[in-house]
Amino acid sequence: MSLTTPPRPLDVVSLFPELAGTTRTATRLHPRPGEPTVHDSSVGGPLLWPADEPWPTCSDDHDVHRLTTLEDVRTLRRILAEAWARPRPPRTNLLTPDEQAIVDRINAGHDADLLPSGPLPLIPLAQLYARDVPDLPCPGDTDMLQVLWCPFDELLELSSAVHLRWRQSGDVKEVLSDPPEPAYVGLADYVPAPCVLHPEQVLEYPPIHELDEDVAQRVIARERELIFSDDTEQPRYRGALSGPPGWKVGGWPAPWSFRDPAGPDELRCRCGAPVEALLTIDSSEWDGESGSWRPLEDIDTSEDCPTMVTVGRGYTLQIYHCLLEAGHPPFTALQ
Ligand SMILES: [Zn+2]
Repeated sequence: MSLTTPPRPLDVVSLFPELAGTTRTATRLHPRPGEPTVHDSSVGGPLLWPADEPWPTCSDDHDVHRLTTLEDVRTLRRILAEAWARPRPPRTNLLTPDEQAIVDRINAGHDADLLPSGPLPLIPLAQLYARDVPDLPCPGDTDMLQVLWCPFDELLELSSAVHLRWRQSGDVKEVLSDPPEPAYVGLADYVPAPCVLHPEQVLEYPPIHELDEDVAQRVIARERELIFSDDTEQPRYRGALSGPPGWKVGGWPAPWSFRDPAGPDELRCRCGAPVEALLTIDSSEWDGESGSWRPLEDIDTSEDCPTMVTVGRGYTLQIYHCLLEAGHPPFTALQ
Protein backbone atom coordinates (compact mmCIF):
# COMPACT_ATOMS: atom_id res chain seq x y z
CA MET A 1 0.00 0.00 0.00
CA SER A 2 1.23 3.45 -0.74
CA LEU A 3 -0.13 6.55 0.92
CA THR A 4 -0.94 9.76 -0.90
CA THR A 5 -1.06 13.28 0.45
CA PRO A 6 -3.91 15.21 -1.20
CA PRO A 7 -2.84 18.25 -3.28
CA ARG A 8 -2.60 21.46 -1.25
CA PRO A 9 -5.92 23.32 -1.42
CA LEU A 10 -4.35 26.65 -2.42
CA ASP A 11 -1.19 27.84 -4.17
CA VAL A 12 1.00 29.47 -1.52
CA VAL A 13 2.86 31.65 -4.03
CA SER A 14 -0.38 33.19 -5.28
CA LEU A 15 -0.97 34.41 -1.72
CA PHE A 16 2.62 35.30 -0.82
CA PRO A 17 4.79 35.73 -3.94
CA GLU A 18 7.92 36.17 -1.76
CA LEU A 19 7.72 32.51 -0.83
CA ALA A 20 8.56 31.35 -4.36
CA GLY A 21 11.65 29.18 -4.17
CA THR A 22 11.43 28.49 -0.42
CA THR A 23 10.10 24.94 -0.67
CA ARG A 24 12.04 22.00 0.69
CA THR A 25 11.35 18.33 0.20
CA ALA A 26 10.53 16.19 3.22
CA THR A 27 9.66 12.52 3.47
CA ARG A 28 6.49 11.77 5.38
CA LEU A 29 7.03 8.36 6.98
CA HIS A 30 3.35 7.38 7.31
CA PRO A 31 3.87 4.73 10.02
CA ARG A 32 1.14 2.10 10.25
CA PRO A 33 0.89 -0.89 12.62
CA GLY A 34 2.70 -3.92 11.25
CA GLU A 35 5.38 -6.50 11.82
CA PRO A 36 8.62 -5.01 10.50
CA THR A 37 11.82 -7.07 10.41
CA VAL A 38 15.42 -5.91 10.78
CA HIS A 39 15.49 -5.52 6.99
CA ASP A 40 12.60 -3.05 6.94
CA SER A 41 12.32 0.65 7.66
CA SER A 42 10.20 0.93 10.78
CA VAL A 43 9.09 2.79 13.85
CA GLY A 44 9.38 0.63 16.98
CA GLY A 45 10.67 -2.35 14.99
CA PRO A 46 13.77 -4.53 15.45
CA LEU A 47 17.14 -3.06 14.43
CA LEU A 48 19.75 -4.45 12.06
CA TRP A 49 22.39 -4.41 14.81
CA PRO A 50 25.71 -6.27 14.67
CA ALA A 51 25.96 -9.07 17.24
CA ASP A 52 29.41 -7.88 18.32
CA GLU A 53 28.56 -4.18 18.76
CA PRO A 54 27.69 -2.79 22.21
CA TRP A 55 24.04 -1.75 22.62
CA PRO A 56 23.68 1.95 23.54
CA THR A 57 22.70 2.79 27.10
CA CYS A 58 21.59 5.85 29.05
CA SER A 59 23.38 7.06 32.19
CA ASP A 60 21.19 10.09 32.88
CA ASP A 61 19.28 10.42 36.15
CA HIS A 62 15.74 9.09 35.83
CA ASP A 63 13.36 11.02 38.00
CA VAL A 64 10.15 8.98 38.16
CA HIS A 65 7.15 8.45 40.40
CA ARG A 66 5.80 5.21 38.92
CA LEU A 67 7.27 2.74 36.50
CA THR A 68 5.88 0.39 33.91
CA THR A 69 7.50 -2.38 31.87
CA LEU A 70 7.68 -3.03 28.13
CA GLU A 71 5.76 -6.26 28.66
CA ASP A 72 2.99 -4.44 30.55
CA VAL A 73 2.73 -1.83 27.80
CA ARG A 74 2.43 -4.52 25.13
CA THR A 75 -0.09 -6.54 27.16
CA LEU A 76 -2.28 -3.49 27.82
CA ARG A 77 -2.33 -2.52 24.15
CA ARG A 78 -3.15 -6.10 23.09
CA ILE A 79 -6.04 -6.42 25.56
CA LEU A 80 -7.53 -3.08 24.52
CA ALA A 81 -7.15 -3.80 20.79
CA GLU A 82 -8.86 -7.19 21.18
CA ALA A 83 -11.63 -5.71 23.30
CA TRP A 84 -12.41 -2.93 20.82
CA ALA A 85 -12.36 -5.39 17.90
CA ARG A 86 -15.00 -7.80 19.22
CA PRO A 87 -18.74 -7.22 18.89
CA ARG A 88 -20.22 -5.77 22.08
CA PRO A 89 -23.93 -5.88 22.92
CA PRO A 90 -25.39 -2.68 24.39
CA ARG A 91 -24.80 -2.03 28.11
CA THR A 92 -21.92 -4.46 28.42
CA ASN A 93 -18.46 -3.55 29.63
CA LEU A 94 -15.62 -3.20 27.19
CA LEU A 95 -13.41 -5.52 29.23
CA THR A 96 -14.12 -8.92 30.75
CA PRO A 97 -13.58 -9.17 34.53
CA ASP A 98 -10.30 -11.03 33.93
CA GLU A 99 -9.10 -8.37 31.49
CA GLN A 100 -10.16 -5.59 33.86
CA ALA A 101 -8.08 -7.14 36.64
CA ILE A 102 -5.00 -7.24 34.41
CA VAL A 103 -5.56 -3.67 33.20
CA ASP A 104 -5.99 -2.40 36.78
CA ARG A 105 -2.80 -4.14 37.84
CA ILE A 106 -0.85 -2.64 34.90
CA ASN A 107 -2.29 0.86 35.39
CA ALA A 108 -1.22 0.80 39.05
CA GLY A 109 2.36 0.61 37.82
CA HIS A 110 5.44 -0.32 39.80
CA ASP A 111 7.22 1.44 42.61
CA ALA A 112 9.96 3.81 41.47
CA ASP A 113 12.39 2.21 43.94
CA LEU A 114 12.51 -0.86 41.71
CA LEU A 115 14.49 0.99 39.02
CA PRO A 116 17.96 -0.56 39.05
CA SER A 117 20.91 1.78 39.38
CA GLY A 118 23.37 1.97 36.51
CA PRO A 119 22.97 2.51 32.77
CA LEU A 120 19.69 1.49 31.11
CA PRO A 121 19.54 -0.06 27.62
CA LEU A 122 17.84 2.27 25.13
CA ILE A 123 14.86 1.07 23.07
CA PRO A 124 14.55 1.23 19.26
CA LEU A 125 12.57 4.23 18.07
CA ALA A 126 13.08 4.14 14.30
CA GLN A 127 15.12 2.44 11.61
CA LEU A 128 15.34 4.18 8.25
CA TYR A 129 16.90 2.78 5.09
CA ALA A 130 17.99 5.38 2.54
CA ARG A 131 16.37 3.30 -0.22
CA ASP A 132 12.98 4.02 1.40
CA VAL A 133 13.51 7.59 2.61
CA PRO A 134 14.75 9.94 -0.13
CA ASP A 135 15.41 12.85 2.25
CA LEU A 136 17.64 10.85 4.61
CA PRO A 137 21.02 12.70 4.54
CA CYS A 138 23.28 9.66 4.92
CA PRO A 139 26.89 10.68 5.61
CA GLY A 140 29.80 8.98 3.80
CA ASP A 141 29.09 5.44 2.65
CA THR A 142 26.28 4.80 5.15
CA ASP A 143 22.87 3.79 3.89
CA MET A 144 20.70 3.71 6.99
CA LEU A 145 19.92 5.49 10.25
CA GLN A 146 18.94 3.88 13.52
CA VAL A 147 17.39 6.00 16.27
CA LEU A 148 17.11 4.79 19.86
CA TRP A 149 15.88 6.63 22.92
CA CYS A 150 15.48 6.36 26.65
CA PRO A 151 11.74 6.05 27.44
CA PHE A 152 11.62 8.42 30.43
CA ASP A 153 10.46 12.04 30.77
CA GLU A 154 14.07 13.21 30.42
CA LEU A 155 13.70 12.81 26.65
CA LEU A 156 11.51 15.93 26.62
CA GLU A 157 14.49 18.02 27.75
CA LEU A 158 17.77 16.16 27.38
CA SER A 159 19.28 15.61 23.95
CA SER A 160 21.37 12.79 25.45
CA ALA A 161 18.20 10.65 25.72
CA VAL A 162 18.18 10.25 21.93
CA HIS A 163 20.89 8.28 20.13
CA LEU A 164 21.61 8.23 16.38
CA ARG A 165 23.56 5.47 14.66
CA TRP A 166 24.37 5.82 10.96
CA ARG A 167 25.31 2.51 9.41
CA GLN A 168 26.28 0.75 6.18
CA SER A 169 23.83 -2.16 6.17
CA GLY A 170 26.19 -4.36 4.14
CA ASP A 171 28.69 -4.27 7.01
CA VAL A 172 26.33 -6.15 9.33
CA LYS A 173 27.19 -9.83 9.05
CA GLU A 174 25.69 -11.43 12.14
CA VAL A 175 22.59 -9.67 13.50
CA LEU A 176 22.04 -9.28 17.24
CA SER A 177 19.02 -11.54 17.78
CA ASP A 178 18.20 -10.77 21.39
CA PRO A 179 18.88 -7.10 22.12
CA PRO A 180 18.83 -5.97 25.76
CA GLU A 181 15.70 -4.23 27.05
CA PRO A 182 15.33 -1.98 30.10
CA ALA A 183 13.71 -3.68 33.11
CA TYR A 184 11.39 -0.66 33.48
CA VAL A 185 10.30 2.34 31.44
CA GLY A 186 8.99 5.67 32.67
CA LEU A 187 5.90 6.07 30.51
CA ALA A 188 4.00 3.97 27.96
CA ASP A 189 3.72 7.05 25.74
CA TYR A 190 7.41 6.66 24.89
CA VAL A 191 7.13 3.03 23.79
CA PRO A 192 6.48 2.97 20.02
CA ALA A 193 4.11 0.32 18.71
CA PRO A 194 5.76 -1.68 15.89
CA CYS A 195 4.96 0.09 12.62
CA VAL A 196 5.94 -0.39 9.01
CA LEU A 197 6.45 2.75 6.97
CA HIS A 198 4.89 4.00 3.72
CA PRO A 199 7.24 6.91 2.95
CA GLU A 200 6.12 9.65 0.62
CA GLN A 201 8.10 12.69 -0.48
CA VAL A 202 6.25 16.02 -0.26
CA LEU A 203 7.06 19.70 -0.78
CA GLU A 204 6.71 22.06 2.13
CA TYR A 205 6.96 25.78 2.81
CA PRO A 206 8.78 27.23 5.85
CA PRO A 207 7.13 27.22 9.26
CA ILE A 208 6.16 30.69 10.40
CA HIS A 209 9.23 31.18 12.61
CA GLU A 210 11.49 30.76 9.56
CA LEU A 211 9.74 33.47 7.51
CA ASP A 212 10.99 37.04 7.16
CA GLU A 213 9.27 39.25 9.70
CA ASP A 214 7.10 41.16 7.21
CA VAL A 215 5.85 38.00 5.49
CA ALA A 216 5.20 36.36 8.86
CA GLN A 217 3.13 39.35 9.93
CA ARG A 218 1.06 39.17 6.74
CA VAL A 219 0.50 35.43 7.23
CA ILE A 220 -0.71 36.10 10.78
CA ALA A 221 -2.91 39.00 9.62
CA ARG A 222 -4.55 36.81 6.96
CA GLU A 223 -5.28 34.12 9.53
CA ARG A 224 -6.84 36.65 11.90
CA GLU A 225 -9.07 37.83 9.07
CA LEU A 226 -10.12 34.25 8.34
CA ILE A 227 -11.10 33.72 11.96
CA PHE A 228 -13.48 36.68 11.79
CA SER A 229 -14.81 35.93 8.33
CA ASP A 230 -17.65 33.56 7.56
CA ASP A 231 -15.48 31.62 5.13
CA THR A 232 -14.43 28.63 7.22
CA GLU A 233 -13.27 26.71 4.16
CA GLN A 234 -10.26 28.92 3.43
CA PRO A 235 -7.08 26.97 4.21
CA ARG A 236 -4.65 28.54 6.67
CA TYR A 237 -0.90 28.77 6.11
CA ARG A 238 -0.28 27.16 9.46
CA GLY A 239 -1.98 23.80 9.41
CA ALA A 240 -2.83 23.43 5.74
CA LEU A 241 -0.31 25.19 3.49
CA SER A 242 3.18 25.14 5.05
CA GLY A 243 4.35 21.74 6.33
CA PRO A 244 2.67 18.39 7.01
CA PRO A 245 1.92 17.00 10.46
CA GLY A 246 3.14 13.57 11.55
CA TRP A 247 6.47 11.78 11.52
CA LYS A 248 8.82 12.96 8.77
CA VAL A 249 12.46 13.12 7.73
CA GLY A 250 14.20 16.27 6.52
CA GLY A 251 12.42 19.35 5.25
CA TRP A 252 11.75 22.36 7.42
CA PRO A 253 11.72 21.98 11.21
CA ALA A 254 8.38 21.62 12.97
CA PRO A 255 6.63 24.82 14.05
CA TRP A 256 7.04 25.92 17.67
CA SER A 257 3.74 25.50 19.43
CA PHE A 258 4.01 26.31 23.13
CA ARG A 259 7.20 28.35 23.55
CA ASP A 260 9.17 30.94 21.62
CA PRO A 261 11.34 29.50 18.85
CA ALA A 262 14.89 28.63 19.81
CA GLY A 263 17.36 31.20 18.54
CA PRO A 264 20.61 30.44 16.75
CA ASP A 265 22.50 30.42 20.06
CA GLU A 266 20.37 27.58 21.37
CA LEU A 267 20.02 25.67 18.10
CA ARG A 268 23.59 24.40 18.00
CA CYS A 269 25.49 21.18 18.17
CA ARG A 270 27.65 20.89 21.30
CA CYS A 271 30.63 21.38 18.92
CA GLY A 272 29.27 24.84 18.08
CA ALA A 273 28.21 24.07 14.51
CA PRO A 274 24.69 24.82 13.27
CA VAL A 275 22.14 22.00 13.20
CA GLU A 276 19.44 21.04 10.73
CA ALA A 277 16.09 19.25 11.08
CA LEU A 278 16.58 15.49 10.67
CA LEU A 279 13.63 13.59 12.15
CA THR A 280 10.29 14.95 13.36
CA ILE A 281 8.47 12.85 15.96
CA ASP A 282 4.86 13.95 16.17
CA SER A 283 2.14 12.96 18.61
CA SER A 284 -0.41 12.48 15.84
CA GLU A 285 -0.42 12.02 12.07
CA TRP A 286 -3.05 14.74 11.66
CA ASP A 287 -5.45 16.78 13.75
CA GLY A 288 -8.35 19.13 13.09
CA GLU A 289 -6.18 22.01 11.94
CA SER A 290 -3.92 19.84 9.77
CA GLY A 291 -6.65 17.50 8.56
CA SER A 292 -6.11 18.39 4.90
CA TRP A 293 -2.83 16.42 5.07
CA ARG A 294 -4.63 13.18 5.93
CA PRO A 295 -3.70 10.64 3.24
CA LEU A 296 -6.40 9.83 0.70
CA GLU A 297 -6.26 6.17 1.79
CA ASP A 298 -7.01 7.15 5.40
CA ILE A 299 -10.17 9.18 4.87
CA ASP A 300 -12.26 6.54 6.65
CA THR A 301 -10.02 5.94 9.64
CA SER A 302 -9.79 7.74 12.93
CA GLU A 303 -6.44 6.13 13.80
CA ASP A 304 -4.38 9.30 13.96
CA CYS A 305 -1.64 7.95 16.26
CA PRO A 306 -0.48 4.58 14.89
CA THR A 307 2.86 4.77 16.72
CA MET A 308 1.19 5.23 20.15
CA VAL A 309 3.95 7.77 20.85
CA THR A 310 2.92 11.03 22.52
CA VAL A 311 5.50 13.63 23.56
CA GLY A 312 4.63 16.27 26.11
CA ARG A 313 1.01 17.34 25.84
CA GLY A 314 0.71 16.21 22.26
CA TYR A 315 3.71 18.24 21.10
CA THR A 316 6.46 17.42 18.61
CA LEU A 317 10.00 16.32 19.35
CA GLN A 318 12.26 17.71 16.65
CA ILE A 319 15.60 15.93 16.25
CA TYR A 320 18.33 18.06 14.68
CA HIS A 321 21.72 16.86 13.53
CA CYS A 322 25.10 18.56 13.29
CA LEU A 323 25.85 20.03 9.86
CA LEU A 324 29.61 19.78 10.42
CA GLU A 325 29.96 16.19 11.62
CA ALA A 326 27.05 13.77 11.19
CA GLY A 327 28.41 11.48 13.92
CA HIS A 328 27.92 14.11 16.63
CA PRO A 329 25.10 13.49 19.12
CA PRO A 330 21.79 15.05 18.06
CA PHE A 331 20.22 18.23 19.38
CA THR A 332 16.57 17.76 20.31
CA ALA A 333 13.82 20.25 21.08
CA LEU A 334 10.22 19.85 22.23
CA GLN A 335 8.25 22.05 19.85
ZN1 LIG B 1 28.75 18.98 15.87
